[in-house]
Amino acid sequence: MANKIPQVPVREQDPGVRAANFEEVSYGYDLDEARREAARCLNCKRPRCVDQCPVSIRIPDFIMKVKDGDMESAARIIAQDSLLPSICGRVCPQESQCEGACIMGIKGDPVAIGKLERFVGDWELEYGTQGHVEIVSNGHKVAVIGSGPAGLTCAADLARLGYKVTVFEALHKLGGVLQYGIPEFRLPKERVVAREIEKVKRLGVEFETDIIVGRTVTIESLMDDEGYQAVFIGSGAGLPKFMGIPGENLNGVVSANEFLTRNNLMKAYDDQTDTPVFVGRRTAVVGGGNVAMDAVRTAKRLGAEAYIVYRRSEEELPARVEEVHHAREEGIEFMMLTNPTEILGDDSGWVRGLRCVRMELGQPDESGRRSPKVIPGSEFDLDCEMVVMSLGTSPNPLIANTTEGLQTTRWGGIIADDSGCTTRRGVFAGGDAVTGAATVILAMGAGRKAASAIDGFIKLTVDN
Ligand SMILES: Cc1cc2nc3c(=O)[nH]c(=O)nc-3n(C[C@H](O)[C@H](O)[C@H](O)COP(=O)(O)OP(=O)(O)OC[C@H]3O[C@@H](n4cnc5c(N)ncnc54)[C@H](O)[C@@H]3O)c2cc1C
Ligand code: SF4
Repeated sequence: MANKIPQVPVREQDPGVRAANFEEVSYGYDLDEARREAARCLNCKRPRCVDQCPVSIRIPDFIMKVKDGDMESAARIIAQDSLLPSICGRVCPQESQCEGACIMGIKGDPVAIGKLERFVGDWELEYGTQGHVEIVSNGHKVAVIGSGPAGLTCAADLARLGYKVTVFEALHKLGGVLQYGIPEFRLPKERVVAREIEKVKRLGVEFETDIIVGRTVTIESLMDDEGYQAVFIGSGAGLPKFMGIPGENLNGVVSANEFLTRNNLMKAYDDQTDTPVFVGRRTAVVGGGNVAMDAVRTAKRLGAEAYIVYRRSEEELPARVEEVHHAREEGIEFMMLTNPTEILGDDSGWVRGLRCVRMELGQPDESGRRSPKVIPGSEFDLDCEMVVMSLGTSPNPLIANTTEGLQTTRWGGIIADDSGCTTRRGVFAGGDAVTGAATVILAMGAGRKAASAIDGFIKLTVDN
């Protein structure tokens, strides 16, 4: 039976080799492999995979084109719904979205939708058939804050509608988390991220880097002095959280965001750069999400004996299944049901260990997850010289604090309705800045909805 045919395996760097380099782990499919994998798709009449894709990519349609070897059509079909297929194919949590719903997955392996999307996206970047898009200017100006997936998608959609769009980015490089957070070994910066952003530039979108909105300029000055008729805030959630336990001020304690930014954005791992980075001989990363996996695998590549310390069990790990699998293959040690209570320091103020307690899972809490409880008398010390905190992030309050009438939630998320409309007229928001740390595809979806709402707002209020 068709559904007994296993997925076409993807070629990857050998774990022993890749654990010491920053080159991409997965090589992706070649044409023959992609066509064989595409042939597994049943082309369902009511495709459940599409319902579970946050931007409803016409999955079976593009897969059928891959099966026929017609990559140009496959790329065109994906482009109708997604701007960044080479990125999403690599980083989306497919197991809980499209692939999780694939009918083939009931009795065997689901179709490898993400790897096929990556193949088509990479093919498009290489052979670029979608070419020049003719755009007629409508004479209106919109400012976008942040060049992550939310900002890029909003900017591209508005540009296609004829808006003159300028993206203001605080950092010196574009891409948001795609650039500064997710490591090179998962998402190559020049070969993939920069080239996907080129597609947005080709639509006429302008980018201004090293501009911190709230410091260099404000939303008021953009709208009142520079003539932007609407603003989209896609400033993400880059403010790291700490545990509030003793010892967090010791040397050798960092947030995952800082550790990853030094390595990805500022290439500390590369001998050609002078970015300083410290890594302990033994490094403990506290947390269990994608960010924690990226940090621990980065520490390993920098030469550390690296541990994940996570207070729940394997089943609750929020990271993508593939990242956990790759981390294990690379020799990362997982200390599950373990919670830090104190970071221990030596006489010179450097980390010398992490005091932890063992946990057990109790009854499910409001989130439906079983809540961890301390096992009395289970305290122990883990020797380590570095602790990386990866406990989630929240939006930076700078923009909200400098924009009158822009309301936020108690935890700092910008309040916006489903279309991205905020409490300040003409100002829209989406992505992690609204939801808190989430996913690339959800941020893209929010950017798309906001672009449509901005278009409606300008047509209604400015054109009339
Ligand atoms: C290490 C890491 C790994 C991840 N792995 C995955 C994964 O595997 N799969 C997945 O789907 N998601 C993953 N995520 C989450 C995902 O990357 C985010 O949900 C997504 O990038 C959010 O997009 P965004 O556009 O809202 O914000 P961001 O990508 O955060 O972009 C916001 C941009 O706004 C800029 N900015 C902020 N403030 C200002 C200001 N005042 N003025 C000007 N510019 C400003 C920032 O510099 C940044 O470039 C990961 C996140 C991290 C940190
Ligand atoms: S659910 Fe699976 S088999 Fe059906 S169309 Fe989607 S990818 Fe193909």
